Order: sequence, then C-alpha cells, then structure tokens
Amino acid sequence: MAGTITVITGGMFSGKSEQLIHYVEQAITAGYATVIFYPHMANRQSERDIQRRIVNTSLTHVPVFAVDTQGLGFHDIVQKYQADVIAIDETQFFSRHIVDVVRVWRHQGRHVAIAGLDMDSNENPFGPMGDLLCVADNIIKLHAQCSLCHNPAMISYRLNDSREQVMVGERNYTALCLECYDQLSSRRSQGGQNDGAVREKTSNHSGLV
Ligand SMILES: [Zn+2]
Repeated sequence: MAGTITVITGGMFSGKSEQLIHYVEQAITAGYATVIFYPHMANRQSERDIQRRIVNTSLTHVPVFAVDTQGLGFHDIVQKYQADVIAIDETQFFSRHIVDVVRVWRHQGRHVAIAGLDMDSNENPFGPMGDLLCVADNIIKLHAQCSLCHNPAMISYRLNDSREQVMVGERNYTALCLECYDQLSSRRSQGGQNDGAVREKTSNHSGLV
C-alpha cells in the first residue's frame, strides 16, 4: 500500500502539535505501529516538547525519540519498531535531509505526519518546511489567534530585536495578524517602544505551538 506525507503547518500557537497528536491517536486506534520524533536541540528550554504534551493523553505508550537535527537517528528506530506511522514535531529545525528521508518512507508504504512552523519571525520559509509542503500529499495549515485583535494570525512575532532565525522559547514570541504586525513594525521602525503592550496582552497566552 502506498504511503502518505501529511504536513501540519502554521505559526506559533496555532495548535500544530495538538493536530499531530490527533493524527497519532487515530493511527493508534487503527492499529498502526507508530513512533514520534522531535529534534534534539542543545539549550532547549521549551516546556512544550511533544513528550510532555502526550503525558495527559492515551498515547503514553507510544515511543517518542529526540533525534539530532541531521536526522541520523531516524533509520534505526523506524526499523526497530517496524513503524507504519511516523510523526515528527518541530520539523522546521531539521536539515533539508529530512525531505529525502520522508520520501523514502512514503515509497516504503509508511504514513508520515510532519508538524512544523511555516515561517520564521521574518516571514521566511523555515528550514525544510517549504520543500516538505511541495512533496506533501496532504497539507493542513493552521492559524493562531492574533494576541491583539483576535483575528486569525499568521505571524510569529518576536518580542525582542534579535535577528537570529532560531531563538527557541515560546515566551519570546506572540501571534499577530498581518495588520497588527504592520502597525507594530512601523512603530518599531520609528523607534517607538511597543512590546510592553504586546507582552501584557499575551502574558496569559494559551501557548499552543
Ligand atoms: Zn491583529
């Protein structure tokens, strides 16, 4: 039977990991051998690793592995567990090598679900996600809620001036719609201080990545 690649993408706080967990729940119910991966990142301080998210679900028996961002750890684990279904969270942090890996899995008849950020905070395609969208069978694009006006948000707005693409930690970001983003950006470029109000508004953000 032919395999499939499903990509679940969108900005931060849009519910991607929850959608991935839902996919895995359906796979388990259908009796598929399933493994979950996420990237092993040095200095990672997120409290939202997929491993912690599934603690309160029916998936606690599903094997979850952190693998290096080059994806070298995938092969042995997939073989060992004879996985029919492979779920990968935070896929934006993996190297482009992952595109070749998931295509091979699809040829082998495996079903792959990938969750990852579509864009970084500068609206650039994030890591391998653009290429993965091209090879996908199914695409689910999610939106967060703008933390200022509550309209659908597509921007993961960084609450400081760092230009690094990879700055891990949800507390450094909030979700904004394009209109609010443009307003804040123009104020920021005029030298105004704007982050205080945004931080206040987002202090009780639900934090679904
Ligand atoms: Zn807005």
